Amino acid sequence: MRCLVLLIVVNLIFIGAILEVVKTGNYSFLFNLSIIPVIAACVFLSSLEAIILITISSLLAVSFILLGVSHIFVIQTTVFLALSGMLAYQLRWVTEHTIVSKGRVLDVIKEENRSAYEFNEKTQSAKLQLEKSVYDISSLYQAPKKMADSATLEELISSLVKTIEEYFSFKKCKLIIFSFKDKDKKIEKIYNIPEVEPKEAPNGYENQLIDILRNRKTPLVIDKAAGILPQEGLNLPTGIETFLAVPLNVGEKYNGIFTVEEFSLDDLVRFMILAHQFALVLERIRLYELVHELAITDGLTDVFVRRHFLARLNEELERAKYFNARLSFLMIDIDHFKMCNDKYGHLVGDIVLKKIANILKQNLREIDIIGRYGGEEFSVMLPETTKEGAIMVAERLRKAVEATEVKAYDETINTTISAGISTFPDDTDELNQLVDKSDQMLYKAKAEGRNKVVVYG
Ligand code: GH3
Ligand code: MG
Ligand code: MG
Repeated sequence: MRCLVLLIVVNLIFIGAILEVVKTGNYSFLFNLSIIPVIAACVFLSSLEAIILITISSLLAVSFILLGVSHIFVIQTTVFLALSGMLAYQLRWVTEHTIVSKGRVLDVIKEENRSAYEFNEKTQSAKLQLEKSVYDISSLYQAPKKMADSATLEELISSLVKTIEEYFSFKKCKLIIFSFKDKDKKIEKIYNIPEVEPKEAPNGYENQLIDILRNRKTPLVIDKAAGILPQEGLNLPTGIETFLAVPLNVGEKYNGIFTVEEFSLDDLVRFMILAHQFALVLERIRLYELVHELAITDGLTDVFVRRHFLARLNEELERAKYFNARLSFLMIDIDHFKMCNDKYGHLVGDIVLKKIANILKQNLREIDIIGRYGGEEFSVMLPETTKEGAIMVAERLRKAVEATEVKAYDETINTTISAGISTFPDDTDELNQLVDKSDQMLYKAKAEGRNKVVVYG
C-alpha cells in the first residue's frame, strides 16, 4: 500500500514536470528531472534491476555524447529509457500485486470456506450424536413401560432381557433379588441374564457384593485400567476389567442388586436409568405379591387361609380327576386346646398354635398344601397320595407333635393332635364330601380318646 502511494506521487510529479518542460522549453530542467524516474526505479525495482537500468542509461548517455549526439537528444533518450523501465516495472508490480492479492484473498476465502465446512461437519455430527443420545434415553424411558406391564417377577425378567437386547451393547448382567418376607434381606433368586431361569445359592463373590452394597446403598463402580477400585476390596472373578453394581432401592426399600460387567461408558448412564426404572417396577410387583400373600396367608400360622386352601383343593381335585390320580385329605385338630388357653392364657396358646403349624409344615412334602381351616383346626391335602400313604403321613405328624415340647414364656407345654382321613376317588369324588368325611373321622378320633388318626372306610 505504501509503495503504491509513493508510485502514484512520483508519477504525478513526473507528469507535472514534463508538462512544465513542454510549456517552458527548458530541456536542462528535463535533464535534472531524469533523476526522478531513476530514483523511482531504485525505489521500486529490485536492486539488480535498478543497477542494470541505470548502467544501460548511463552507457547510452556516454555513448551518445562520445558519438557527438546532441545533449538534448541524449537527455531525452535517457529519460525515455528510465521512464519506460519504470513504467514496465510499475506495470509488472501492479499486475503481480493484483494477482498476489487476489490469490491471497482467494486463499483466505478458501481457508474460511474450509473452516466453515469443518465447523458445519462438526456441528452436524454433534447434532446427530445429541439426537442419538436423546433418542436412546427417551426410548429407554419408553422401554420400562413394557416392563411396567409385567405382573410377576418372571414376566419382568423376560421383559428386562428383551430391553437389554434392544438397547445395550453388553449382553450379560446379574440380578440379585432379595426376599421381601424377612428383614434380613435373604437372597430369593439370582438371575444371570440373558438366562431367565434363576439360581438360589449365591457364590462367594456374590455374598461379598451383597454385604458391601447392604452397607453403602449407592452404586459401586470398578474400572481396573483407570485405577478405580472399591475401598471394601471386592474380589471380582478374573478377567473382569469394568464392573458396575446398582442397588435396587426405592426410598428405604431395598429389593436387590443389579450388576453389569464389561460395560462401555455409553452404557453407564443408560444402565443407571434402566436400573432405577427396574427397581420401581420390582417394588410395585413386590407390593402386589405382599398384598396377595397377606390375603391368602394366615398371619399367625403362615399357612393358607381356608378360602384359598379350598380354592387350591378344588384345583388339585380337578387335576387328580383329569390325570386319574389319587388325592388324600386330612382334617387335623389340636386336642384340648381350650384347656391350654385356659391354663396358660391366649398368648401362650398362640405360640403353641404357631409351633404346631410349623411342625406340620416341616413334616410335609413341597407339593402338599396346608391351610388353617378354623381356630385350632388345620386341613392338609396330599396330592398323588393313597389312603395308606395318607395314614403314614398323618401318623408322622401326630408323632412329631406328641414328641415336641413347646416352650412359651416360662411354660413348657406338651400337646397332641387328632386327624381324620378321606381319599379321592376311593371315598368320594366331591370336594365337600371329601372334607365332610374327613371331619367325621376326626370326631371319631376325638371320641376314641384323641391323639389318634382315623381313616374313612
Ligand atoms: P378338642 O380336643 O375336643 O378339640 O378340645 P378343644 O378344647 O381343642 O376344642 P374346642 O373346640 O372346645 O376349643 C377350641 C379352642 O381353640 C377354643 C379357642 O379359644 C381356641 N382357639 C381357636 N383359635 C385360637 C387362636 O387363634 N389362638 C388361641 N390362643 N386360641 C384359639
Ligand atoms: Mg381341639
Ligand atoms: Mg376344634
